Amino acid sequence: MKSKDDDLLSVVLQCLDVGITVQDKKGEIIYANDAAASMIGFRSVLDLINAPLTRIREKFILYDKKGRPLDYNKLPGRKALENKKPSQTTLQFQKGRSSEKHWAQIKSVPVLDTSNNVEYVVNTFLDITKSKKEDERVNHFIATASHELKTPLAGIKAFNQLVARKFISQRFDNLPTFFARIDEKVDEVTKIINDFLDSTKIRAGVFDFNPEVFDFDEFVDTTIKDLQSIFPAHKIIKKGNAKRKIVGDRSRIRQVLTNLLGNARKYSPQSKEIVVTVAAVKKGVRVTVQDTGIGISQSELKKIFEPFYRGGKKYTGNVGGLGLGLHISSYIVKLHGGSMGVESEVGVGSTFHFTLPLMLKKYKKNNHF
Ligand code: ADP
Repeated sequence: MKSKDDDLLSVVLQCLDVGITVQDKKGEIIYANDAAASMIGFRSVLDLINAPLTRIREKFILYDKKGRPLDYNKLPGRKALENKKPSQTTLQFQKGRSSEKHWAQIKSVPVLDTSNNVEYVVNTFLDITKSKKEDERVNHFIATASHELKTPLAGIKAFNQLVARKFISQRFDNLPTFFARIDEKVDEVTKIINDFLDSTKIRAGVFDFNPEVFDFDEFVDTTIKDLQSIFPAHKIIKKGNAKRKIVGDRSRIRQVLTNLLGNARKYSPQSKEIVVTVAAVKKGVRVTVQDTGIGISQSELKKIFEPFYRGGKKYTGNVGGLGLGLHISSYIVKLHGGSMGVESEVGVGSTFHFTLPLMLKKYKKNNHF
């Protein structure tokens, strides 16, 4: 007879995110919780328990950690059954016809009877796809960041050597240009480090944010003027005015506008004009940054605000970047209670826009969205 404790245990097991199955000595599944059924690709626990092993195996294709096909006999459940010892593995699997690979950590523990024979095997499945993808993204980021840092550092070294030679030869022509180039390269390194720190702060929910009241038109004019001197090859044209003061973190909003203008310049090597339009909207201000550059494909548009996402080489060529600028910018806009979006067409250009409210509705020091 089922006791109250059995009922409670069954509720607890069903609530877990970890998939649990119990196999008998023939390998048949005699118990499973909801998480296991859905991980394996069955609509209900009953469907899973009633399915023959062949049908369960048809549900997914297994791969080892390195992505090589993996035989079902190598699963820890089978090993626990044969060796009478606990076994575990980390593997990848593909469900049904989906091409997406998931990661799972599987542990199997045999339950022995009084004669030391395996009576059951208890398997636990943990879906670790999210943390594996996060690891992959961080590793990719570290590789990209190292590469991106090497380029300006090599430039600093080269200009430094040129400066040294000038001093040895006592010919000081070009020195101001060399110092200006070193300064630019130092700014590039600083930006990479700051973007990395910002993305870390976003993840930790401790992004610094210092609101103040400021005149929006004056702010846009100053930002454009400063950037125009750094981007002499592109003409930044400003249209419209907001005629409003807003409450927000001026330097963070400057970061957003600088990033959008920097991208408009980076991804428009052939065209020479960037148009910034400012307007007052209901209880807020709206800015659009329009370029006539390489544009963004529809499939990429969905991903560009994700951390570390960089457009494919086909579109971006060898343009440098960490794939953090838009992620940080959209976070800053959200932090102000505003919104950010983009329209784009490959070969025609992109228009990024963001809207900020005049006042901050709710503002929390520690923010997670
Ligand atoms: P990064 O420029 O460092 O790659 P961002 O987060 O600023 O990082 O941008 C992410 C991706 O979005 C870029 O790699 C690029 O593919 C695409 N992108 C952003 N802005 C533009 C633009 N103005 N024109 C074309 N592509 C853009």
